[in-house]
Amino acid sequence: MTIFERPVKDRLDYDGASSFPGAKEHPPAGRAQVGLTAAIVILPFFALGVAIVLAWGQGVALTDLLLAAGLYVVTGLGVTVGFHRLLTHGSFAARPWLRVVLAIAGSMGFQGNVIDWVAVHRRHHAFTDRPGDPHSPYRYGTGLRGQLRGLAHAHLGWLFTDDQTSAERYAPDLLADPTMVRVARAFPALCALSLALPFLAGWAITGTLYGGLTAFLWAGLIRVALLQHVTWSVNSLCHVIGSRPFKTRRHDRSTNVWPLALLSFGESWHNGHHSEPSCARHGLDRGQLDPSAAVIRLFERLGWAGDVHWPDADRIQRRRADHPQQARVLAGD
Ligand SMILES: [Zn+2]
Ligand SMILES: [Zn+2]
Repeated sequence: MTIFERPVKDRLDYDGASSFPGAKEHPPAGRAQVGLTAAIVILPFFALGVAIVLAWGQGVALTDLLLAAGLYVVTGLGVTVGFHRLLTHGSFAARPWLRVVLAIAGSMGFQGNVIDWVAVHRRHHAFTDRPGDPHSPYRYGTGLRGQLRGLAHAHLGWLFTDDQTSAERYAPDLLADPTMVRVARAFPALCALSLALPFLAGWAITGTLYGGLTAFLWAGLIRVALLQHVTWSVNSLCHVIGSRPFKTRRHDRSTNVWPLALLSFGESWHNGHHSEPSCARHGLDRGQLDPSAAVIRLFERLGWAGDVHWPDADRIQRRRADHPQQARVLAGD
């Protein structure tokens, strides 16, 4: 039985500090899934080692860095603007072709097929930091040891457990969309494309297979791993360290972590996001760098996106943790 299927009482009884009921049980995922996930996690570190040895004394080729940056931006925005803000939260509407392009770009980020990604993430919002959350760093309680173990679980460990999220329950809209079902089915092929593209580009640009190989290492494997760890850090670090300027639901401990803002394309303003989940901008305060929101604004100007949920100043003000009304609520008046 997964934690999600546990009786509702278990989840309601949660006190916000102890381990989740059944937290110590870890039914492992199937062997094939564990093997594949382990390969996806470990392989890039070998790739990094090989790439560093090859680059020793001569540096990394500019071509490889530009290809890596380009693919990082395209696949990263596919995840943040496409998977997350558009498909999970419906924070704007997009032209049908743009929806597909974003879903394909996000799939190339090696983070699971689009329908599963959306289902897991909606479940995370439904049960944030309480029993039922697929990747909460508070799973093992709030003591130091439990917290460290929870961080490892939220970052990576959860991918190795058999805790299926029902797409029928959490993403029926996407299951009813034949195009999204097709993109989800194409996930393995899109992952292969995500690695083949840099290899072919590197080969074509340098005219040598060696150029293809180094592009494959830097703009393929290492780029994929960097984006994965940044996304996973939003699940782990952005619920543990950082500031909480905005009020969220009970038990929800999401935080804003500014150093990750640029690499995560604005997703590390995670407290702002959990406070206003369907808002197209996660950096709700002035000066909070949010490249995904800038891209949505650009799509809006080009006429490709509409019905964008931009922040409402009065509403945001009321969501502030130190707002007088909130202070009264917190004080129990
Ligand atoms: Zn979260
Ligand atoms: Zn979200």
